[in-house]
Amino acid sequence: MSNIFFTVGPSQLYPTAKKHIEKAIQDDICSLSHRSKKFQEIYASAVQNVKNLLGIPENFQIFFLGSATEAMERIIQNCVREHSFHFVNGSFSKRFFDISGWLGKKPEKVEVKFGEGFYFNDINIPDESELICLTQTETSAGTSVPMKEIYSLKKRHPEKLIAVDIVSSVPYPKIDFSKIDAAFFSVQKGFGLPAGLGVLVVNEKCLEKSRLLEKDGISTGSYHNFSNLLKYAEKNQTSETPNVLGIYLMAKVAEDMLEYGINKIRKETEEKAERIYDFFENNRKMEPFVKNKKIRSQTIAVIETPGGSKEIVEKLKKKGITLGTGYKDFKEKQIRIANFPTHKISDVEFLLREIENL
Ligand SMILES: *Cc1c(COP(=O)(O)O)cnc(C)c1O
Repeated sequence: MSNIFFTVGPSQLYPTAKKHIEKAIQDDICSLSHRSKKFQEIYASAVQNVKNLLGIPENFQIFFLGSATEAMERIIQNCVREHSFHFVNGSFSKRFFDISGWLGKKPEKVEVKFGEGFYFNDINIPDESELICLTQTETSAGTSVPMKEIYSLKKRHPEKLIAVDIVSSVPYPKIDFSKIDAAFFSVQKGFGLPAGLGVLVVNEKCLEKSRLLEKDGISTGSYHNFSNLLKYAEKNQTSETPNVLGIYLMAKVAEDMLEYGINKIRKETEEKAERIYDFFENNRKMEPFVKNKKIRSQTIAVIETPGGSKEIVEKLKKKGITLGTGYKDFKEKQIRIANFPTHKISDVEFLLREIENL
């Protein structure tokens, strides 16, 4: 029996991924030297396709890393002399905050409970903050920060850098990159690819900051500091032996999504999210965890299961559906449903029908 993964990451592979993996093996991509011309072509097409898909301006650099968590560390090392400021609304935004402290910086934060949003007008960001960090969709809680709130932060603090974690929302949100400075994601969520590749997008201001820190003798890391990443990116290469297969698959799936149409993907994401939330709003036993509809994530639906989540997860598993459980302390009390481009409307209908039949 086939199985469909509604887990929040890794998730169901994108429908064309299997075909591309098979072709990659046939074409010896896994044995390809990362110093070859063929690799440089793959690298260049991955960068171009991601830029086209997400509307990333030409003056932004794209760097390939090991994971999204690595991207957090690289951003702190390269964009912060001392002070970062974090909007913490769950476990991943907390991780970003923690990383800054672990690297010996002085992070500050505004924190809200799981499932709640920020009152942006009441938040004072200290003058000394150099970088503002936000998690666009908090995968642990199912909340999203509206992009317009992020843009207005930039308007109020044009001199500060803004970094946005878009791991579990990309490629859904339409982002005006001229109003942020850095964004990052990994590929095992919305792109429906095997884990092991992080993508970091930075503008010239981030690179400039990194150069300034280096000039002042502050460590910005080693092989993956921005200056070294840039040196190799300009040659369509990486400093180390990278995840060549991952970069190849990223190029292919971004191309497939472009062909399918990013606007169609966005529209369908909203349609599926509406069906999911409507269903649980009208369910007697379960309900959406995030009460404020304005901050409910379109890509990660967190559902409260007062009778426990374990039985639901096990029963659906027998029907060929793998659901996400709640995050950490919420493991037994919630289920999480990913709504990524790989999930078709008919998949969502199947899922909701099986939940109805429980
Ligand atoms: C999954 C996730 C991460 C971590 O991604 P890795 O690829 O495991 O490093 C970071 N932020 C958010 C919002 C996530 O959902």
